[in-house]
Amino acid sequence: MHELSVSSAVVDTALKHAAGRRISVVSLRLGKLRQVVPDSLSFYFEIVGRDTLCEGARLELELIDALMSCGSCGHEWDPAPKPQHGSLVGSELLLPQFRCPECEAPGAAVIRGDELEVESIEVEDPADDRRQTAEAPLGSSSPAPS
Ligand SMILES: [Zn+2]
Repeated sequence: MHELSVSSAVVDTALKHAAGRRISVVSLRLGKLRQVVPDSLSFYFEIVGRDTLCEGARLELELIDALMSCGSCGHEWDPAPKPQHGSLVGSELLLPQFRCPECEAPGAAVIRGDELEVESIEVEDPADDRRQTAEAPLGSSSPAPS
């Protein structure tokens, strides 16, 4: 259910930025240390967005590779294990390594990989929005006021 709460936060943020306009695209930066499964996130995003201005919006995910830094020896490494042969994308999100592989000191710092932020949204043109939501009969086109 982790992805559900993340989706709610993403939709809330997008709606806040949209300021009443209909959202067409939400771009999200997602660090792999977040342990979020992209497919599940898209699934819940659609559900949470229902009956909001986020309904039907496309979720674009930018997955950020993780990078850790050891405070003792300065070694940097990617804590996410490489995908096993023949595995699916989800497995590379599992079991990040937080202990330095060089000197085995614990408590390494995360340089990147814990991102979870709405980078940008695209909203539809307000004129388009009005045309879609107005209950005017089909074919009634009004010239745009100058
Ligand atoms: Zn180290």
